[in-house]
Amino acid sequence: KVRVRFAPSPTGPLHIGGVRTALFNYLFAKKHGGDFILRIEDTDSTRFVEGAEEYINESMRWLGMKVDEGVGVRHKKGHQRSYRQSKRSYKQYVDKLIKSGHAYYAFDTPESLEKLRERAESRKEKFSYDVKTRRQLDNSLNIEDKRFVHQRINNGEPYVVRFKMPEKNEEIYFDDLVRGRVHFQTYNLDDKVIYKSSDNLPTYHLANVTDDYRMGITHVIRGEEWLPSAPLHVMLYRALNWEDTMPQFAHLPLILKPTGKGKLSKRDGDKGGFPVFPLNWQLEDGIAAGYRESGYFPEAVVNLLALLGWNPGTEQELFSMDELIQLFSIERVNKSGARFDPDKARWFNQQHLVRKSNEELAKLFQAELKERGHERENGYVSEVVGLVKERVNFVSELWEQCSFFFEAPVEYDGKVVKKRWKGDVPAFMTELVPVLEQLDNWQADAIKATIAEQIEAKELGFGLVMNAFRLALVGGGFGPDLMTIAEMIGKEETIQRLKAAVE
Ligand code: GLU
Repeated sequence: KVRVRFAPSPTGPLHIGGVRTALFNYLFAKKHGGDFILRIEDTDSTRFVEGAEEYINESMRWLGMKVDEGVGVRHKKGHQRSYRQSKRSYKQYVDKLIKSGHAYYAFDTPESLEKLRERAESRKEKFSYDVKTRRQLDNSLNIEDKRFVHQRINNGEPYVVRFKMPEKNEEIYFDDLVRGRVHFQTYNLDDKVIYKSSDNLPTYHLANVTDDYRMGITHVIRGEEWLPSAPLHVMLYRALNWEDTMPQFAHLPLILKPTGKGKLSKRDGDKGGFPVFPLNWQLEDGIAAGYRESGYFPEAVVNLLALLGWNPGTEQELFSMDELIQLFSIERVNKSGARFDPDKARWFNQQHLVRKSNEELAKLFQAELKERGHERENGYVSEVVGLVKERVNFVSELWEQCSFFFEAPVEYDGKVVKKRWKGDVPAFMTELVPVLEQLDNWQADAIKATIAEQIEAKELGFGLVMNAFRLALVGGGFGPDLMTIAEMIGKEETIQRLKAAVE
């Protein structure tokens, strides 16, 4: 059975790249009838941010990704005791690796490491705690002398445990589901810290690999930035004798800035870099907005994210979550980076907005109407929304397109006034008032016929008059069918607006 995990660190709000990783994992799991697991990787206590875990859960809910196992999910038989790494134990694996000679204690102090770094820099080299360094260090002796090591540990000397890269170069490779066969030379890799005595916690690498093993993860789908860690992970699986059940890797392409240059970051804010929704502290960074706050529908976010790095192989661009589950395949994930296009993002929202029922949109719009002091029944608001929804990308843009259905224009568009409100028009409008007052059947067709009759009698241009009439009702040269507007706002209101315009 397919089992995948989304394994964020609770270090802040979810960046859009992280959400895309979650989505691809979710789609892959559901496509194969598998499980989607949410694991919180919180072993780096220095980067922990209060509230981030709840935030992650809330994001999954908002986007419609149902977590099968993980934090925030009711415990069922067969589940792990905890999905929070700080609550899990790793010591047994550290011991096993040390015993088999794949890891060692290192007692370097920050000062001695700094010295090594300086020495390397003076030689214009980059410091790396690798095989060569290991040989030079006095603690290489400690690796051999077990008694001495235990004495130091018992004395309470701080230490870390490092994974021991092989003495002789080895070529490591694995078959990535996106990138194909990936090769690494172990002499390019350093001895990574896998455990620290300072907080008795494993580092990312050890916790990640041993949890994937214990949770029966079959596929590791994650961002390309983790590719450099993959060889160490492969070596950990080998060292722990778990190679048989090693998951398959799939490293997803980067999401690039709209310019195509560089990775989209949270600094790119409203160009798409902002998070799903903000976590309070982010205000300090000057990045308050999120997709949700900007008025994006979760369906639109899911849709646009799905196409960042994946394509269905057809021209189709609009998908529901269910359709994505049906169609998703890792084979169709691209190797090269996916450029984020903010205009396209808005377009996705518009497309999903148009597909929503007028009633649903009206309900969302009612909040703003109330704020603006307009209490209108859902039926009327739905009708209005239906007439203008094609013109907006977000619910927040509705008001601008339809305020005249609720209140008279406060000002008139100067350019339109100059072009349309001239010659015989003002006089005609004045004469139109009593004629319209006589009209009992206040329906679009009848209003139109009445006005047309008057225009003909006065031998005026139909277009000119209608544009001026629109100016009086709407305040500008835009909006849906004019006679429908007149019918909907009613006879009294129409006549009032005409009179106001003449003055
Ligand atoms: N905790 C890592 C992160 O924050 C997980 C990376 C992985 O999936 O292996 O993205």
